[in-house]
Amino acid sequence: MRIVLSIIFLIFLVALSVCMVIAMRSKKAIGKYVACMICGIIPPIAGNLILMLTTNYTVAMVGFYIYFLGMDTTIYSILTFSHYYCELKPNKLIRKAAYILVILDAIQYALNPFTRFTFSARSTMVDGFKYYVLVPYFGQTLHRLVVYGIFLAVIIIFVYKCIKTPKIYAEKYWIILFAMLISGILETYDIFSNAELDFSMMAFGAFGLLVFYFALYYRPMKLLDKMLSGMASEMPDALFFFDKTGKCVWTNEPGRMLLGGARNDYDSVKDNLTFLFGDIDFNETGWSKKLTLGTGDETQYTRLEMRSVNDEYGKNTGSYLSVRDITEEQREMEREIYRSTHDSLTDLYTKEYLYECIEKRLKNDKKTDYMIGYMEISNYKVINDVFGKRFGDFTVSKTADFIREGARGKSLAGRLSEDSFGILIDKEDFFGKPVEEKISTFKVSDKDLEHRVIIHYGIYDIAEGEDIDVPLFFDSARLATTRIADPYQTQLVYYDDKMRNEIIHDQLISNQLQDAIATKQIRPFLQPIVDEKGLLAGAEALVRWIHPEEGLMPPGKFIPVFERSGQIVDVDKHMWRSACEILKDWQERGFKQFISVNISPKDFYFLDVAEELKNLVEEYKIDPKQLRIEITETVMMDEAEERFKVIEDLRRYGFIIEMDDFGSGFSSLNLLKDMPVDVLKIDMQFLRDSERNLKAGFIIKNIIRMSDDLGIDTLTEGVETAAQFEKLYDMGCKLYQGYYFSKPVPVEDFEKQWFD
Ligand code: C2E
Ligand code: CA
Ligand code: CA
Repeated sequence: MRIVLSIIFLIFLVALSVCMVIAMRSKKAIGKYVACMICGIIPPIAGNLILMLTTNYTVAMVGFYIYFLGMDTTIYSILTFSHYYCELKPNKLIRKAAYILVILDAIQYALNPFTRFTFSARSTMVDGFKYYVLVPYFGQTLHRLVVYGIFLAVIIIFVYKCIKTPKIYAEKYWIILFAMLISGILETYDIFSNAELDFSMMAFGAFGLLVFYFALYYRPMKLLDKMLSGMASEMPDALFFFDKTGKCVWTNEPGRMLLGGARNDYDSVKDNLTFLFGDIDFNETGWSKKLTLGTGDETQYTRLEMRSVNDEYGKNTGSYLSVRDITEEQREMEREIYRSTHDSLTDLYTKEYLYECIEKRLKNDKKTDYMIGYMEISNYKVINDVFGKRFGDFTVSKTADFIREGARGKSLAGRLSEDSFGILIDKEDFFGKPVEEKISTFKVSDKDLEHRVIIHYGIYDIAEGEDIDVPLFFDSARLATTRIADPYQTQLVYYDDKMRNEIIHDQLISNQLQDAIATKQIRPFLQPIVDEKGLLAGAEALVRWIHPEEGLMPPGKFIPVFERSGQIVDVDKHMWRSACEILKDWQERGFKQFISVNISPKDFYFLDVAEELKNLVEEYKIDPKQLRIEITETVMMDEAEERFKVIEDLRRYGFIIEMDDFGSGFSSLNLLKDMPVDVLKIDMQFLRDSERNLKAGFIIKNIIRMSDDLGIDTLTEGVETAAQFEKLYDMGCKLYQGYYFSKPVPVEDFEKQWFD
């Protein structure tokens, strides 16, 4: 018996040592407490093993010491462990008290050889061998009180934890509590039965192993099961589980709801599902499909997915079908796609998406069925500046509606930039004239605000054999609009062979410009400006290009080209310098007449106009009053405030500012109030109207009178007859210019005519 027990103890010792090492190396935080506790359990077992094997008194005494002191370490380490295992905040008081008791107990053992206060041993015979059993004294009772006291504390901790923890989590605490109680009871039995061999140590060993397993390896399967089935029931998807034979064995709540709520009617599940979703392949797993039921806003989207279920060895144990209502996801996805392909302000396609759709369409359809349209709100900047961004946006969105309405048949439309739109025009539904008429009367009105929207519409007709290059098509359509000279008039233009040739011609003359300036092929002609008495007051410098091949080119032929390319700056700088040269010459010859020069709106973009002009008059040492500056109201279309500043600056310096082509644009009288100008040049178009209708004549009269009040001189240009001259004279006009006096002529001719 002793031998058998010894072997069992030995096995426990080895097993516990191994567990201790493993626990020590464990990555889990609890590992070191487990190791500590096992370390505490080893000495009493070892002590008992010694007692079991020895026949020598001294050795037996050593065994007893190891046993009892070991009990102290065991109980203390169990207390420490239980704190962490039960996730209690370490209770310092209990642990300190336990610690002191254990130390005191150890002291009384240490003194025992001298005091004989605690225990001694007597020999007896077991299995025919000498065996030492305990003879307890009062100290031994104290020892037991200490051990039981602490043991009780541990039991209380575990009982508390078991009660406090939700049932499904409490399993691991209950098991350890149970093991602990059994060990305690066995130990107690051992003590009070006075049995010769101590069996209870086996219970402690088993307890150590149990703790090792539960603290480090236990996975609460029941808990997992419960959690998983809980999750499956809570899942919004309807789930149907089938066993290996294909029989439905379980469905969650949404599954039951889907099939009408019958609780345990698993037999008809497959039939019901087939009824709802059509043919379902229950035998195959690993598939999923999307079903669309209903149409329009009512459309419901469902995703069916069949999966197999395998056990931990990978063996198939059945399958499940999940049915998910993906209508919301699908809608959100559709909304997302819509947002990324549509412009938020106008709801038209975005540029990228439009290009993509057009490309697809042109690839699939006959491309000669279509044309490419580029539409631009020409006065967008003015609308924005004058009426504000809100009205600007409103105009854009109304224009988009207008385009949508017009984009019939297989047409497509999108927004290309802030103020431009792209259209794939279905030729079958497009007729140039009516479209042009329609766009030319297009207005937007918002409460009391109404404004004409000026549209420039460029169209590119796709040729039969052409490669599909959507961006290039749009470039060509846009290029066509850049050739519309009048920003105030709606116009529809085609990019065609004529335009292509014009563009080539433009490029040609652009390349020749520098040379033409250097060789003075480009030079000013002068047109006289006279006063009321018909005497010369000054002249306007008008540019001419005496082209070696094309002959005399009027500015209409090349100014728009250079305005587009920005080269107008070079032309104007050359013209201003030429004017200064002439003025310098006149000054030296004693002539006091002025020369007016033209400034293009584009000059303000590329040049510090004020700086440039000031430098010129300083260089030629002429009075700035002699060089008059003609600007048009289009200069004010962009960044009006900046332009005002430049003009004010020029006036302060001494230049005289003339407002050219007054009455042709949009702002006219309104602008005049704040415009810092000295002379008003009334457009000859106005004059022509005045012959036909009285109203225009009346307006001219009023403009002249009002200008007078404002201290502004009036100059009428385009005077062709004596009658016109007389009429304007009567109205009070100060200065006159026109063919009636002279056409623009070369400088020498001008001087010959007026100075000789
Ligand atoms: P603009 O500044 O309004 O110049 C007046 C235009 O009216 C000139 O045309 C002139 O020849 C024409 N004209 C003068 N009197 C009469 C008349 O009695 N009857 C008619 N039918 N026409 C008359 P031109 O020289 O062809 O110039 C056209 C436009 O080109 C100018 O209009 C001006 O805007 C621009 N331009 C001319 N020279 C320059 C320049 O050096 N720089 C810039 N940026 N533009 C210039
Ligand atoms: Ca002019
Ligand atoms: Ca003019």
